[in-house]
Amino acid sequence: MTIIIDGKEISKKILAEIKAETKLLYDKYEVKPGLAVIIVGEDPASKIYVKKKRQTCESLGFYSESYDLDENISEKELLNLISDLNNEPSIHGILVQLPLPKHLNEKKILEFIDYEKDVDAFHPINQANLFSGEPSILPCTPFGIIELLKRYEIKIEGKHAVIIGRSNIVGKPLSLMLLKENATVTICHSKTNNLSYFTKQADILISAVGKPEFIKADMVKENSVIIDVGINRLDTGKLVGDIDFENVKDKTYAITPVPGGVGPMTISMLMKNTLITCKKLSF
Ligand code: NAD
Repeated sequence: MTIIIDGKEISKKILAEIKAETKLLYDKYEVKPGLAVIIVGEDPASKIYVKKKRQTCESLGFYSESYDLDENISEKELLNLISDLNNEPSIHGILVQLPLPKHLNEKKILEFIDYEKDVDAFHPINQANLFSGEPSILPCTPFGIIELLKRYEIKIEGKHAVIIGRSNIVGKPLSLMLLKENATVTICHSKTNNLSYFTKQADILISAVGKPEFIKADMVKENSVIIDVGINRLDTGKLVGDIDFENVKDKTYAITPVPGGVGPMTISMLMKNTLITCKKLSF
């Protein structure tokens, strides 16, 4: 029987653990994890993500600050706000929702966030720490994937993990995290020749591409573990991953569904990062 990895359930458990620890922190030291969420402009998808992040903060007993900024805000104004938040002791995490409007230099803005409050782990110092094998803050989606594997007691050490996708937010950092867990790691991407030659060797296959159902049953190894990061909306409105779930699932040992797999983990790990930075900055 294939294990359907329930990201929703694990995510709920993680949030309950964070909530309990948050209460303890407050009862004992009167410290509350504080997250500032900044959104610029009116992108509807970003607004939904930000709303969810704010609601989750509230449900956990975090302190949160919200900044809904005008589309035309200048770079200087945004940097001034980040500077204030960098210096604000009640704020332990600063999140700038991406994408930003074109006139703002995304790289410059993300690098301006105090790396110790960089709960998305996009700052070069946090990337470098991950590269050197001593990470302090981990990027949320890969962090969630590792957590899912661990909570399902899926052995990583010695396994061949094949990642499809080399983005800075998923594929690249995940490859380093899997290396740290002693997997043998292969990264595939849009220029990889003969993709299925690699995917068929994967004990753990992770797809982060963004193409609906493009990993077919004949591309995966019998009894492998499949993690589907892709989120694709079909014309019918249905949400699907990168994996042809219905046809692949019976061949696998374990697989994540979309929705309800990796997706819910990302926000939980953001909250976990805020709790971690809070403890680091407060004690
Ligand atoms: P991206 O667009 O930055 O990168 C896509 C990657 O796929 C690239 O590295 C590219 O080389 C590779 N690729 C494209 N076509 C390919 C092909 N035919 N064969 C092999 N590789 C190919 O993507 P991203 O930001 O990493 O996101 C990837 C997907 O994951 C998207 O669907 C996104 O919505 C989803 N995502 C989900 C979460 C989550 O929380 N579940 C988080 C981040 C991203």
